[in-house]
Amino acid sequence: MLNKLLSKFSHDIGIDLGTANTLVYLRGRGLVIDEPSVVAINQKTKQILEIGQKAKQMVGKTPANIVATRPLVDGVVSDFEITEQMIKHFIELLHKQNFALLPRPRVVIGIPSGVTEVEKRAVIDAAANAGARQAFLIEEPMAAAIGVGLEIQEATGQIIVDIGGGTSEVAVISLGGIVASQSLRIAGDELTNDIVNYAKEEFGLLVGERTAEEIKIEIGSACNIGKLEEASIRGRDIITGLPKELIITPDQAREAISKSVRSIVESVKITLEETPPELISDIMRQGIWLAGGGALLKGLDQVIARETGIPVHIGEDPLRAVVRGTGLVLDDLDNLSQVLVGNDLGQEYS
Ligand code: ADP
Ligand code: MG
Repeated sequence: MLNKLLSKFSHDIGIDLGTANTLVYLRGRGLVIDEPSVVAINQKTKQILEIGQKAKQMVGKTPANIVATRPLVDGVVSDFEITEQMIKHFIELLHKQNFALLPRPRVVIGIPSGVTEVEKRAVIDAAANAGARQAFLIEEPMAAAIGVGLEIQEATGQIIVDIGGGTSEVAVISLGGIVASQSLRIAGDELTNDIVNYAKEEFGLLVGERTAEEIKIEIGSACNIGKLEEASIRGRDIITGLPKELIITPDQAREAISKSVRSIVESVKITLEETPPELISDIMRQGIWLAGGGALLKGLDQVIARETGIPVHIGEDPLRAVVRGTGLVLDDLDNLSQVLVGNDLGQEYS
């Protein structure tokens, strides 16, 4: 009885377990955590030293016994124990700060589409071990669609393209379900990697991931949009081993990432080809919606629009679309339960 009353005040949590960024929404408060999905661990003791931004700053700079890892790097739960620690860390942090006296939270977690049953189980278990009262899963493209404001329950075809760090996911949604989808392991990380490789091959320059990501964000583009300036790129000369600074032009940056961009655009086209014709006519009217950090790549919307002949919209604040979606689901769990996935939905953990 008391429990039931208290659960009205329970601070439920929505988590976007992204490959690049982990975001947490606390019901009644909004976005409370927005951190890189990076964990620094002491390899000898297996102890977690830092999580999030502080751990990210350690990437590539750690002494031998400390490793900074991204447990979700391929878009799946490749390192379950660390993922569990990460979920636990965030839930405990919030629980202590906000509602130590309240019932344990219900948690909605966004997971990449196409994860296996075993991986789903692993995420549910992690949340349960981390102190969740109930844990629900939602496929990220579905959460992204809800987060950008698509009316996913309508009998209308809608398409969302969520380009994150490790995976790009394309999903056609109608009546609250995913009708056609593609999941591609080429996304923001790959574009960054392309720039690392380009610098090595074209300039004989070894550059770090963070440098390459900055270049990508600053002057990378999917098509010639003009008005971009050249940037300087610093690294180590392959031959001399000494530090070197060069200039990279927007054309070069575009060339570096062009093959990966093409793959992403292709996966949108393939999904459209697999979509029933009735839904295609809806999509042509509603347009294609982009979410995830990759949606911000300059000119990507233009290329997709040109290649598909369908108007393209970038969702508002695309990096937060998934977590916003998990929050909206929490707010309306009774109505939206059909979008949740996984077995033993709603089981309560003691
Ligand atoms: P995930 O959901 O996998 O955690 P995010 O949606 O958080 O991924 O997106 C992270 C990716 O978006 C990274 O690869 C990052 O480099 C990229 N990104 C962020 N901002 C931009 C930008 N302005 N232009 C291009 N790429 C961007
Ligand atoms: Mg994501």
